Amino acid sequence: MSTYKASVCPHDCPSACALEVEILDENTIGRVRGAKGNNYTQGVLCTKVAKYAERVHHPDRLREPMVRVGQKGSGEFKVVSWDVALTRVADEFKQATEETGAESVWPYYYAGTMGQIQRDGIIRLKNALGYSGMLKTICTQIAYAGWTAGVGAVRGADPRDMRNSDLIVIWGCNAVATQINLMKLVAQAQHERGATLVVIDPATTGTAKKADMHLALNPGTDGALAAAVMHCAFRDGRADRDYLTRFTNDAQGLEQELADKTPTWAAQITGLTVEQIEQFADLYGRTQRSFIRLGIGFSRSRNGAHNIFSVACLPAITGAWQHPGGGALLGTSAIFKLDKSLIEGMRLGNGNSRNLDMSRIGAILAGQPEDLKGGPPVKAMLIQNTNPMAVAPDLQKVHQGLAREDLFVCVHEQFMTETAKMADVLLPATTCMEHHDIYTSYGQVHLQVSEPVIQAYANCRSNHEVICELGRRLGSGDRSFQIDAKSMIEESLALSGYPDYATLLEQKWLDCAVGVDMQFTEGFDWPDGKFRFKADWSAVGSDHAGMPSWPGHWDVTIKTSEDRPYRLTTPPARYFLNSSFTQSPCALKKERRPLVTVHPLDAQKANISSGQRVELGNKLGAITLHAEVKDSIRPGVLEVRGVWPGDAFEGGVGVNVLIGADAAKPNGGVAFHDAAVWMRPA
Ligand code: SF4
Repeated sequence: MSTYKASVCPHDCPSACALEVEILDENTIGRVRGAKGNNYTQGVLCTKVAKYAERVHHPDRLREPMVRVGQKGSGEFKVVSWDVALTRVADEFKQATEETGAESVWPYYYAGTMGQIQRDGIIRLKNALGYSGMLKTICTQIAYAGWTAGVGAVRGADPRDMRNSDLIVIWGCNAVATQINLMKLVAQAQHERGATLVVIDPATTGTAKKADMHLALNPGTDGALAAAVMHCAFRDGRADRDYLTRFTNDAQGLEQELADKTPTWAAQITGLTVEQIEQFADLYGRTQRSFIRLGIGFSRSRNGAHNIFSVACLPAITGAWQHPGGGALLGTSAIFKLDKSLIEGMRLGNGNSRNLDMSRIGAILAGQPEDLKGGPPVKAMLIQNTNPMAVAPDLQKVHQGLAREDLFVCVHEQFMTETAKMADVLLPATTCMEHHDIYTSYGQVHLQVSEPVIQAYANCRSNHEVICELGRRLGSGDRSFQIDAKSMIEESLALSGYPDYATLLEQKWLDCAVGVDMQFTEGFDWPDGKFRFKADWSAVGSDHAGMPSWPGHWDVTIKTSEDRPYRLTTPPARYFLNSSFTQSPCALKKERRPLVTVHPLDAQKANISSGQRVELGNKLGAITLHAEVKDSIRPGVLEVRGVWPGDAFEGGVGVNVLIGADAAKPNGGVAFHDAAVWMRPA
């Protein structure tokens, strides 16, 4: 009989699935399945991780520490010992510090693992040594600003409560591809309560195909739809006046503001028909148990924060928050009270150094003074858990920056990614199956710990081990660089007042929603407990000039023009997760090759047919890929799914070369679905 051990999915996905991993021997995993006993995972996980053995035992995994011997980016390395590799890194960091100041060293990371120890331990280097820190703007920053403007904190209704809903609205999220567990909850609500599913998404995604109603609005016009639905709720007597009085402020001002935000007004902006808007407004207005699951997708516009804020207003109008299965959810992060002071070295005293905007990495490496915030140029980097050569915007600049001969780069990775190829020192990293970690989640409610289920592959080391080793070599005597990952988890749990490690491991997960007022029955997370219809953007971000206070349509998305007539969106591919899994044979087989989806009307105008090579471009760059002509998107919109590696494209650079790195308001972030491009046959 097979032996299974518990683990946790580490990938950048809201679900943080509880896993059961088949152990074939001390070095080998077999099948991976979702834990049935976990009432969020419910035995379900995505195909990507069900085939995780392909990733863990992939023949291309990095095995040994290496130093570069060829040109930067050539991928030519020679194997060295860990001692030689780490000595070189420490020496380079010391030299950069002596010559240009500690802030010229930039530890750079993101969410390649969501484990708190292996992801965020790198922050200790900044706090111990005064290196530059990082503003984490590339993903949720825009969305969280919008949600916080209304609700006050990044938390919302318990996703498991969707089972008790009569109406589920999945807004700006292709859950079939990116949050499969959500679809299980939808199916349960449909089966048990006959719930209706509405999907709001510019594209006819896999999720939209399962909907009872699909509203395919123009990208970046979600705020207009939300405003019209609220207008109808006031007009039709569906606004819960008692709830508005008790739990919101400025409801009267909002009603006046929405007086002219009619379905006719919204139809012109969204591209939906008046009938569609009326129908959805009626359904939403009359259904008490309505649950909106907001996705990050529709925040990836220059007006994204305002759009999220506008949608977040809806359940406060109807008072859906008061009912089982009612309310809305963008993220759950704020319910976790994990004390990360030890992990991040917050008490180490050197944390006042500058924080550089990770999304502006291209401009930063190009030495643009405003991006360097008056400090020195970046001369040395340690990169863990991210692949900026593929995932960052304004890729041309990123590629040029990481190719700088005077920039020392150490990359700690599992695979020879494009970023790994740019390394001067390349270190092999363990996977989640080979190291300890502790996981919160941004889409569900469980705190989980995980132990290694197999031995570390070849000569790989965990991120924690590398950070500790570097901290010691760089002269920090702090004990946070001495203790192992398990001890760090134990101490962090104790600092947080959570059950101890052994207990958590035994019970597998801790339900952090217990005791939390998930539906704000005692008020929202502002000092007065009231939901804010009139946003004070200065409370959530410093770059707020010009942002409208009231929900509605903020017309600042990129404008198409005669020479760039198409709006480009870049949603995730089902079988990749950002640039992860682009090595997996199963994923590559399913995704085949980079494709641009073109509406038949646009294809006809541009004389393009399915399978043809086409070029897309704008002032930032150009890519060549194949067309698929389908009516799954709106005319005038092009869609390129997935962060394919650059070498999958002729020209060696991926789709993000077309995406601007201008910081979205009010707090930074990238408008990944808000680019204007031209298209022509290649
Ligand atoms: S659904 Fe998300 S959390 Fe679950 S296994 Fe897949 S990537 Fe991991």
